[in-house]
Amino acid sequence: MLFFKKQKAVAVDGPAGSGKSTVSRLLAERLGYLYVDTGAMYRALTLKVMRNNIDFDDEKKIVEISSALDIELVPSKEGPNSIRVMLDGEDISRDIRTMGVTGNVKYVARIPQVRQNLVKLQRKMICRMDGSVMEGRDIGTVVLPDAKYKFYIDANFEERVERRLAELKAKNYPITRQEVADDLKQRDHADKTRKVGPLRKAKDAVFVDTTDLSIEEVVQKILSYIKK
Ligand code: C5P
Repeated sequence: MLFFKKQKAVAVDGPAGSGKSTVSRLLAERLGYLYVDTGAMYRALTLKVMRNNIDFDDEKKIVEISSALDIELVPSKEGPNSIRVMLDGEDISRDIRTMGVTGNVKYVARIPQVRQNLVKLQRKMICRMDGSVMEGRDIGTVVLPDAKYKFYIDANFEERVERRLAELKAKNYPITRQEVADDLKQRDHADKTRKVGPLRKAKDAVFVDTTDLSIEEVVQKILSYIKK
């Protein structure tokens, strides 16, 4: 694991709606590092399970699929800080963001063997890179416990609901504030109570409260730690 210490790895964890994805993408862009969205990988696996009509109770089959996942995160033409998510060679970037997939990720993310397989993939993705920003729920605690820099990003619940609502409205997704709040509450609970790889701040991670900060202020704050 010492390898990842020498390698310039930045681990970013936090709950949904905390701003961690936007911040992580910008950080990777400014530092010239690879950006790895591990949530997209759990979402891609969920989509594949749904497309193949596999029951979420069929853990054996889900583990089998997770052990041979063909996922690629490739830079998007939309800008240097956005990526396309490819599954079996198909661009599934949009398909993994539906509320259907979002609501079902918890069923695959709770299976220990699935997490082992995805953690392996995540480490493999960055091992040839000189620097990377990896975001998720268990990056500082499980995937890259020796990362040189670790951040845990959070914001108060109401603010996270507003951010997520604005994001979905911008995409013309028909959803109410109450539905967004219910979804976040459920996801927080599933993420924090999972037996393996739960959402938790690593002891040595810097806590960043983004409630009253703009995205740019958060990026600058994190960069100031990295440049120290
Ligand atoms: O980051 P995002 O909200 O896209 O992640 C979707 C879901 O994937 C999370 O709610 C969580 O259940 C799961 N996830 C995980 N471990 C990670 C990243 C995401 O369990 N490292």
